[in-house]
Amino acid sequence: MVARGGAGGGRAVADIHEEEPALLASPLPLGSGGGETVFRATGLTKIYEMGEIKIEALRGVDLQLYRGELVVLLGPSGSGKSTLLNILGGLDVPTSGQVRFLDHDLSHDDDQELTRYRREHVGFVFQFYNLIPSLTARENVELVTQIAERPMDAADALRLVGLGDRLEHFPAQLSGGEQQRVAIARAVAKRPDVLLCDEPTGALDFTTGKVVLEVLAEVNESQGTTTALITHNAGIAAMAHRVIRMRSGRIIEVERNQTRREPAELQW
Ligand code: ADP
Ligand code: MG
Repeated sequence: MVARGGAGGGRAVADIHEEEPALLASPLPLGSGGGETVFRATGLTKIYEMGEIKIEALRGVDLQLYRGELVVLLGPSGSGKSTLLNILGGLDVPTSGQVRFLDHDLSHDDDQELTRYRREHVGFVFQFYNLIPSLTARENVELVTQIAERPMDAADALRLVGLGDRLEHFPAQLSGGEQQRVAIARAVAKRPDVLLCDEPTGALDFTTGKVVLEVLAEVNESQGTTTALITHNAGIAAMAHRVIRMRSGRIIEVERNQTRREPAELQW
């Protein structure tokens, strides 16, 4: 139940982490995540009301995510992982509590403001790829780049995920892992501040899943995109800078990996 290293860490910049002096004890190398606070959630609750029944999906979550880090959110089915990620991504709003993205309070945004927030700042990757079947890989990515402010070239985004030779393929002509890589290219092509991935390997076999995780680690590293990755698979946790464990709507542990593993080395 102890939030080991839970306050994060990082480059120990005193003016950023003044309120958390314990952090200064464990400076981390550059590129390990842990700079500026990107998300700060305080006392988040989420209650779904289904007729007479109330479901407490989140029961008081406090969380910070730092610029550039890759965080794995781990927990059993129903523990509130997706609810938390959806609130961070502006797809849902908390019942109570506050969530800030940089200096912006998302908790009181209306639908229109949340839509703009998502469009400008957030990339999503879900278990199912949600590609448009009648569009090629390149065109699927272009749907996003055409409305983004400072996008990558769609072909460059596809090259980043290792699909430079699949630009003109339709989804039906791609494997599951390749389709997920197109979905990742689509999510990162607008250069989002944060990449939120909900069970991105959930529909993939072991080997294909690893390739997708390698792509996510590579994007995190090369683009510096703050990345949160949901899984119920404990074997994936070793690739993260930090691991956040949830149970029954609460964070029960936050741990910093002293040694990270390459996705290729993971076992599950
Ligand atoms: P996880 O992603 O960890 O599996 P979720 O965040 O999806 O967990 O769900 C947490 C709890 O909230 C579960 O009991 C789930 O049934 C419930 N829940 C999630 N979304 C809704 C919803 N839209 N309406 C009602 N209940 C929901
Ligand atoms: Mg879920």
